[in-house]
Amino acid sequence: MKLDAPTLVTVTVFVTVVMGALYLLSWSQTRRTRALGFLGTAQVSGALAATLFGLRGLVPDWLSIGLANAVMLAAFGLIWGGARSFEGRRIAVLPLAAGPLVWLAACLVPPFYASLGARVVLASAIAGLYCALAARTLWHHRGERLPSRAPAAILLASEALLIWTRIPATLVLPAPPVGTPTDPFWVAVLCFVALLYSVAVSVLFMALAKERLEAEQRRVAETDPLTGIANRRALGAEARRVLAAGPVALLLFDLDHFKRVNDTFGHAVGDAVLVGFCAAAGQVLPEGTAFGRLGGEEFACLLPGAGAARAVAVAETVRHAVAAMRPDLLPGLSVTVSTGIAVGAGEFETLLGLADRALYQAKAQGRDRVVLAGPELRRVA
Ligand code: GH3
Ligand code: MG
Ligand code: MG
Repeated sequence: MKLDAPTLVTVTVFVTVVMGALYLLSWSQTRRTRALGFLGTAQVSGALAATLFGLRGLVPDWLSIGLANAVMLAAFGLIWGGARSFEGRRIAVLPLAAGPLVWLAACLVPPFYASLGARVVLASAIAGLYCALAARTLWHHRGERLPSRAPAAILLASEALLIWTRIPATLVLPAPPVGTPTDPFWVAVLCFVALLYSVAVSVLFMALAKERLEAEQRRVAETDPLTGIANRRALGAEARRVLAAGPVALLLFDLDHFKRVNDTFGHAVGDAVLVGFCAAAGQVLPEGTAFGRLGGEEFACLLPGAGAARAVAVAETVRHAVAAMRPDLLPGLSVTVSTGIAVGAGEFETLLGLADRALYQAKAQGRDRVVLAGPELRRVA
């Protein structure tokens, strides 16, 4: 097979159509990631534009120049729309349509339409702008860390720069004599470069969608649905991680007489108390403390490197914060918490067992207090 211009254009069109169709199929199956719908439509539009460009000389110029560029600009606009959709941003039709419309309006001006340089400058300016806007959108939302985000933003930004370099090149290089058809070789090269970018952008968008889904699944698997804090699995994993680095203070909290809260006020109020406890504790725990729900009305937090005195002080602030919780609408509802503390290194389960024994002592000694596990369990409040 000879890699001549028609072959390159045909390959470009074929690959782009197949990828676009796959995107649209994937979007129509889940309807979850609307960005894939935008990207698929952009691919198909790009393929249509490449076909029209490739038919230069065989079809009227208004098709292979006027319409081809309008469809190509619409494809770039759809990539920007896809990026905005991916980030959950509003998508206004006007800015997406503005590029192709400005192009078509300019084509109605005979001196513009007759000038190859003017056409290249305007089409490149608009296409590059859409790429730059898509890159900016992805970069703007970098707070959501996804591995493919930076590569996608850089790729789109480099595509914008590459497209824009055609502007000074067109202005500086001598214009071809009037009537010279655009060199089919360069048309094919441009198609091929566009194909490479389009494949890379599509692969990265697919990766972004997958990465977001995985992050969401990971978050759900590690979060307690009622309170929104870490669940037992996540807290255990974090504990093993910090314990590998050194000693840790483990605070084990258990709400006092919680069954009574449920029995007296109902399960819904019990749920609200659990959420309230998390909010109260979360406000007074040191910034960045790993805090999780072990199950039921049992919670725990980890203080890496903290000694007994600091751990007890933190537990006391939590105890006071919980006692100060004001369930104004429910007279008679008072909430207190007992805490068992174990400080040390080694296995998480061993530390948890020690903290549990201390907690048992706190309950036995009358609740609403903090007990530190030691060689002899000590009541500290
Ligand atoms: P103690 O002071 O000894 O800890 O007594 P307690 O009543 O707090 O402890 P117990 O283990 O007897 O009861 C815990 C209760 O917590 C029983 C269970 O129904 C309730 N519970 C567990 N999970 C939830 C939940 O998600 N929501 C609500 N509302 N209640 C829960
Ligand atoms: Mg309990
Ligand atoms: Mg309890």
